[in-house]
Amino acid sequence: MALAYEVITTSFRTELHARWSAVFDRLQVPWVYEPQVFTAGDGRTCMPAFWLPRERIWFDAVTAPGHEDLGWWRRFAAAAGGWEYYPTDTFFDEQDWDSPVHVDEAWHGRALLAFGPLPMAYGDDGLDVWQSSPEGGMWVYDDAMYWWTLCPVCGYFGAEYFGQAERLSCECLNDREHNKTRNGHDVRLLKAYQDGWNESVEEVLVAVGGGRAGHQWRRRALIPRQGAAEAARHCVAQCRSVAEVLREELPEEAYADAEEGHQLCDSCPGFVCTGCGAEPAAAPGEYCRSCEPLPLLSDAHARDLLNLRAIELSRLHKEQLKIIHPVINKAMGVRWRGDARLADLAVGLTQVEHWLAHPGSLQIPNPTLSEEEIDMLSGAEVRQEIAARVGTLSAVVHDTIPMVQMRINDAIGVRTRAEADEEQLRAGLRQVRLWLQAPASYREAAG
Ligand SMILES: [Zn+2]
Ligand SMILES: [Zn+2]
Ligand SMILES: [Zn+2]
Repeated sequence: MALAYEVITTSFRTELHARWSAVFDRLQVPWVYEPQVFTAGDGRTCMPAFWLPRERIWFDAVTAPGHEDLGWWRRFAAAAGGWEYYPTDTFFDEQDWDSPVHVDEAWHGRALLAFGPLPMAYGDDGLDVWQSSPEGGMWVYDDAMYWWTLCPVCGYFGAEYFGQAERLSCECLNDREHNKTRNGHDVRLLKAYQDGWNESVEEVLVAVGGGRAGHQWRRRALIPRQGAAEAARHCVAQCRSVAEVLREELPEEAYADAEEGHQLCDSCPGFVCTGCGAEPAAAPGEYCRSCEPLPLLSDAHARDLLNLRAIELSRLHKEQLKIIHPVINKAMGVRWRGDARLADLAVGLTQVEHWLAHPGSLQIPNPTLSEEEIDMLSGAEVRQEIAARVGTLSAVVHDTIPMVQMRINDAIGVRTRAEADEEQLRAGLRQVRLWLQAPASYREAAG
């Protein structure tokens, strides 16, 4: 299936969660939001916010201590780590510590809890990024001051004491004693935190039952998967495969198993996940966003990626970026990149990745010609090449087309183009090429 970008909306219980999801997206860390409810011996339940399946990390964030039952959370952290819980710390509310939480081995992992707003780069060195957190970092089960960190060698992502990257399990740095790399201020991390702060998060009121209304925080982002937006739009959140429903409703002898029955959703007009069967999938045989989480692209990330793809396109076609960018803008139906909205960026990224995969499919108008190429052209061809560039030149130098035409004629010493011989025309095309490459020289020559 072709790679295609689509706009989807994701919902979160708190604004802080929405912003953290944008941080993980920028770092290309797959996340699942509230995939599981856990129950304690006393019957109380909790839903940790994020599961990072690749790193096997549970992560939650609260604006201030006291907002959640932190004692419960700590018992969860012990259970998720596969350890016996014993109370040692006075920071957490420990009244109910003898009521353990059950966490299936499939969900075992490290648990981290962040207090306060997102980290942020302060001052010039950007060192103390967790300054606003009351704990100076994230809590693990029995210790604080943990920061997200990235391996400077392989890019491995994790959380370590003061962000010391040599403690990461990739072991690239492999020097625990002498080389304390406080990589919690890695420029990629700082950029991701900044994205989290900048992310546009919308607060909406939703019905929560019993006539009561609750709050949700939503963000819109791109997902690189065709059909995902459609699947999410039509899902009524009660997905079960047709096969499963039939097997329950029909007498055993009347039920005939068929492959399609397992892929079609009984409630939505689409497909069910081939993994869990409980969430919508973009296409038959595919996984849902929980079973196979893909990092999303926020607006800023989509623009950065589009710029990167434009550079790749420019190298592939040996063409200047200032020729490539207008071609991309045109494909998105915008005049300037700044006018592009998220849906336009989805179109642009989809189109550019298609051009990259099938280089013959992109026809660049007015490609830059080399000296040798200009020498090879016939007089009629040179005339055409000039004519084809006049519109672009007029836009680039902010001058009218008749003025541009006159300036070309002046440059080659003729009153009308018809008078020009082949050599003069070649000189004209070279002049146009120079002005396109350095628009300022057009204005300077005028003075
Ligand atoms: Zn590494
Ligand atoms: Zn469904
Ligand atoms: Zn699934």
